[in-house]
Amino acid sequence: MKDRPHIIIKQRRSTLERTPPLSSEEYRCVNLRSRWQSTYVTACHFTNEAAHAIGDWAAQSVREDGASPEVGGLLLGYVATSDDCVVYVDRFQPFREVDFANNSLLVVSDAIRQAYEAGTSDRPGLIVGWFHTHPGHGPYLSTTDVNRTHLPFFRHPYQIALVLDPHTPRWDTGIFSTLADQTGLNTGRDTAQFYSSKEVATGAAVSAVFSWKDLLAFFS
Ligand SMILES: [Zn+2]
Repeated sequence: MKDRPHIIIKQRRSTLERTPPLSSEEYRCVNLRSRWQSTYVTACHFTNEAAHAIGDWAAQSVREDGASPEVGGLLLGYVATSDDCVVYVDRFQPFREVDFANNSLLVVSDAIRQAYEAGTSDRPGLIVGWFHTHPGHGPYLSTTDVNRTHLPFFRHPYQIALVLDPHTPRWDTGIFSTLADQTGLNTGRDTAQFYSSKEVATGAAVSAVFSWKDLLAFFS
């Protein structure tokens, strides 16, 4: 990942590796080690607040004519690193007016900055990743996602990309992470892991895909 542009959203570094503000019972965990052969982040935890805010933002974007826009936002929380790197997503801050199918670096940069300022105005938080939807084409990281959003703006190895397809019945979702040796990303596009949206819709996809609705159900 040597050639990535150096556009950095400044963060408050003191929030790294701090003690979790919530008890572990308040999170639901997605084990990434069981989903990817190689992953720097071994597990990703979500609060009820974050999980529902992500689902609500995805749901409101769905249009009945099928022409849903891609919407997204910032994942805010903290990171715990010892032997493993574990990400905690405490809350979600939507991006306003970003069309991920047709973005520019400047538009994405502004959207991230605005979301970060809005999301951390009253409580501290670290940008632990980003979220966007793939309405009807399944969760994976496209070349555009990687080159125009992830690598320029989410260059820390602990930062994840969460992709959800709101047109699938169970909201098929993938969490894409840096490889353990930090030489690349899990994108879901490798030969063995590639799947069509039809396969995702019928649940025959790679193990990296899980149901966001199932995750939400764990909170109830
Ligand atoms: Zn995408």
